[in-house]
Amino acid sequence: MSTTVESDLKAAVAALQDPHSGQALGDAVRGLAMNDGKVAVDIQLGYPAAGWREQLGELVRNTLMAHDGISAVTVDMDWQIPKHSVQEGLEPLNGVRNIIAVASGKGGVGKSTVAANLALALQAEGARVGVLDADIYGPSQPRMLGLDGMPDTTEERKILPMSAHGLQAMSIGVLVSTDQAMIWRGPMATQALQQLVSDTLWDGLDYLVVDLPPGTGDIQLTLAQRIPVAGAVAVTTPQEIAVDDVRRAVAMFNKVKIPTLGILENMSTHICSQCGHEEAIFGAGGGERIARETGQVLIGQIPLDAGLGRSTDEGAPIVASDPGHPVSMRFHEVARNVAARLSLQARDQRIRMPKIKIVE
Ligand code: ADP
Repeated sequence: MSTTVESDLKAAVAALQDPHSGQALGDAVRGLAMNDGKVAVDIQLGYPAAGWREQLGELVRNTLMAHDGISAVTVDMDWQIPKHSVQEGLEPLNGVRNIIAVASGKGGVGKSTVAANLALALQAEGARVGVLDADIYGPSQPRMLGLDGMPDTTEERKILPMSAHGLQAMSIGVLVSTDQAMIWRGPMATQALQQLVSDTLWDGLDYLVVDLPPGTGDIQLTLAQRIPVAGAVAVTTPQEIAVDDVRRAVAMFNKVKIPTLGILENMSTHICSQCGHEEAIFGAGGGERIARETGQVLIGQIPLDAGLGRSTDEGAPIVASDPGHPVSMRFHEVARNVAARLSLQARDQRIRMPKIKIVE
């Protein structure tokens, strides 16, 4: 078969839109070969997307089968998660490819609920994931992920992450009591958190999801300056009143040159647990408006759902305990959107040179 036909077909697949990144598949289509009417396509994404494999295969097949002379199409799809760049002057963490910060303008919007379920969804999509709970004054991850006891430490006084639903996890809440942390002044709190970040021995993570303290005060700003973050997600509720808070969060990330990957609207609608009726009780379109006003992407909408709140508060977040639930499916989509948006960011260009010692 002529290579012109193959390159035309490859171009047709490359032009397909990836709904997660908002861009054409482009270079993700690594190869296409045609033999006797049978086409094999090789696609490599920059983010994990196990839950999209079937649908993508279908999309590619439908596109190619519309061309004359094609009898069968096989699609081989996988991913390679690159290391993305972090703020200038910071070194990426050992054992972690990318840190994703989950932030909010204020408390109570569901930031920790989102962090836990987002991490689990990234894992279910095919990545190695960890959670670091840096919410110093109200650490919720020990409860949400069911972390019990104290973490083990090594002889070098490094902390071994705990394990929860397959995730590596660490929380300031398992090391110090909330009462103790409450009386820490800003510098002491940031120092403790920074130490927690650098002293935990993460093992081969693609993503470390960091649950930041809510708000945009000194502690948050200092953390955003000192933790090597690849991208941030800002969580909000749809109310008008949340707009200013999110704008401040986005401004903080802009200031320290951390790309905001998108705005996530939580509690966007209420789904009645009796009849399944979905209603925008806080008003519709809030998240979209916030995204537009801040020049960001609305990366997902999670409904107010009693099962989501309950399961997460009981230590078995819905994405892990009920993976087929519609809310879990939404988290999977959010996870792919977040990771795909991150995959569009600049890669870490550091070249690790071997240390050369010249001996006379
Ligand atoms: P934050 O970290 O922003 O302070 P949390 O994640 O701790 O907020 O959530 C506050 C409370 O709201 C928790 O009890 C949580 O279970 C509940 N919650 C959060 N998001 C939802 C949701 N979409 N549906 C139902 N309950 C939710």
